[in-house]
Amino acid sequence: MTVIAVIGGGISGLTLTHCLRSRGKDALLLEASSRLGGNIETRQRDGFLIETGPNSFLDREPATRELAAGVGVEDRIRSADPAAKARYLYTRGRLRPVPSSPPAFLKSDILPLGARLRVMAELFTGRAPEGVDESLAAFGRRHLGPAATAVLLDAVQTGIYAGNMETLSVDATFPQLTKLEREHRSLILGAIRSQKAQRKALPAGAAGSPEKLRGTLCTFDGGLQTLVDGLARELGPAAHTNAKVEGLQPSHGGWRVSVRENGGQAELLASQVVLATPAFVAAGLMRPLDEPLAALVEGIAYAPIAVVHLGFAPGSTPAPDGFGFLVPGLEKRRLLGAIHASTVFPFRTEGGRVLYTCMVGGARQPDLVKLDEEALVALAREELKELAGVTASPSFTEVIRWTRGIPQYNVGHLERVAAIDAALKRWPGLHLTGNAYKGVGINDCIRNAFALGDALAA
Ligand SMILES: Cc1cc2nc3c(=O)[nH]c(=O)nc-3n(C[C@H](O)[C@H](O)[C@H](O)COP(=O)(O)OP(=O)(O)OC[C@H]3O[C@@H](n4cnc5c(N)ncnc54)[C@H](O)[C@@H]3O)c2cc1C
Repeated sequence: MTVIAVIGGGISGLTLTHCLRSRGKDALLLEASSRLGGNIETRQRDGFLIETGPNSFLDREPATRELAAGVGVEDRIRSADPAAKARYLYTRGRLRPVPSSPPAFLKSDILPLGARLRVMAELFTGRAPEGVDESLAAFGRRHLGPAATAVLLDAVQTGIYAGNMETLSVDATFPQLTKLEREHRSLILGAIRSQKAQRKALPAGAAGSPEKLRGTLCTFDGGLQTLVDGLARELGPAAHTNAKVEGLQPSHGGWRVSVRENGGQAELLASQVVLATPAFVAAGLMRPLDEPLAALVEGIAYAPIAVVHLGFAPGSTPAPDGFGFLVPGLEKRRLLGAIHASTVFPFRTEGGRVLYTCMVGGARQPDLVKLDEEALVALAREELKELAGVTASPSFTEVIRWTRGIPQYNVGHLERVAAIDAALKRWPGLHLTGNAYKGVGINDCIRNAFALGDALAA
C-alpha cells in the first residue's frame, strides 16, 4: 500500500500528481468528470478559441514554468500582445484608461482631483493595530481614502475575486499590501523602495521596467488547455476520469478510498490521500470522519460567476484597444468587466474576428448567474453597448455558468486555514490542496501543489 491517491483533476490535482510521479512516487489521480482540467477548459468553435474559466496567468511564477517544461509545453507559452497593455475602468459615465505610473495618475481623470490628492496623503498613513484581520475596504479607506477604494481597489479585486471588498480579508487576498504596510507603513513609500531594491537585484544590464517586474500575461497556443493536455499525456493511465470519490476511511495505517468509476464501485487502498477538490466536496468527504473539520472547510464561501463570450464577424465591429475593462461596484452596473480576448491573444480568433469575454455576477450580484443563457447574452450585449459602445450583433455566443466559481477569502480566512491545518493533524496521511485555501490563481494552485508534492515526496 504505497500509492498516493490524489482526488480532483483540476490544475491543483494534476500538478500534484505530476510532481509526485516525477519525484519517484506512485501517485494516482481520480477525477469525477469525464475530462481533466477542472475549471480550465478551452473550446474551439466557429473561428473562436474560448476559455470557459481562466484566460491567462502571469509569467513570474517559476513553478508554472517548471510545470510547463516538465510536460513539454514550455515552448508553447504565448505572451499577451503589446496592444493589450492599456487597461480601462468604467467610472463616472465612461471608460477611462488606468494610469500606468504615479505621475500619470496625478494628471489623469480616473478619480476627481480631491480623491487623487487624498491618495497622495497615503504617505502619512499609520500602521493598523497588530493582529487585526481587516476587510479590504477598511484597509483601502484607511490608506487611499473612500473614493480611490470604491473605484480602484474594488475594480482590482473584482478582476481577481469577483468579490465583495467589505467582506474580503485584505491579509488573505492581497498579502503584498499588508506586507508593505508592516515593513514601510505607507504603501507608496514601500512600493518605491521595493521597486528600487528589485532593480538593484537584477543582473547588470538586465531590463528592469516595472512591467517586467510585475510579469507578463501569458497563455499557450491552443489556450490553457494545452497545459492540461500536456499533463494528461504525461500522466497517461495514472489519471482516471469518470472516477468519483464517494467515501474515505482510515484503514491499516492508510486510507480506504471508495470510488464510483465508469458506473461500477471500486475500493482503493492508499498510503496517503490528497483532496484537491473544491472545498465543499472535501467537506462532504470528511464529514463522516470529523464534523468540526468538515464545518471549517465548508465555511469557505464561493462566488458564482457567468462567463459570456460574444464573438463578432470580421469587420462588424472595431477591434477594441487594451486588455479590457473593469466596472467598480459603485457604478451599479450588471457587468463585472470584459476581457478583449482577441486583442490580448490575437491567435484566439481567426481572420480578424473580435471576441469579448464578459463576466457577470460575483459575490455582489449572485442572482444574475441564475438567468438563462438567452437573458445573460442579452444582458452582456446591453451592457457592452452602454459601457463600451459596441452596437454590432454578435455572430457567436457562448455562456458558461459557474454556480460556485471563485472561493472568497473573507475576513477570518487565514485563521480558518490555520485551524484546518491544525485539525488535519488528527488524520495522518490526509491532506488538502486547491484554490480554496492559499491562493486562487493558477500560479498559486501550481506553486502550492508543488510545495505539497515536495513535502510528501521527502
Ligand atoms: C470564471 C473564472 C475565471 C478565472 N480566471 C482566472 C485567470 O484568468 N487567471 C487565473 O490565474 N485564475 C483564474 N481563475 C481561477 C483558477 O481558474 C482556479 O483557481 C483554478 O483553476 C482552480 O484549480 P483547482 O484544481 O484548485 O480546482 P478545480 O479546477 O475546481 O478542480 C477540482 C476538480 O475536482 C473534481 N472533483 C470534484 N468532486 C470530486 C470527487 N468527488 N471525486 C473526484 N473528483 C472530484 C472536479 O470535477 C474538478 O475537476 C478563474 C476562475 C474562474 C471560475
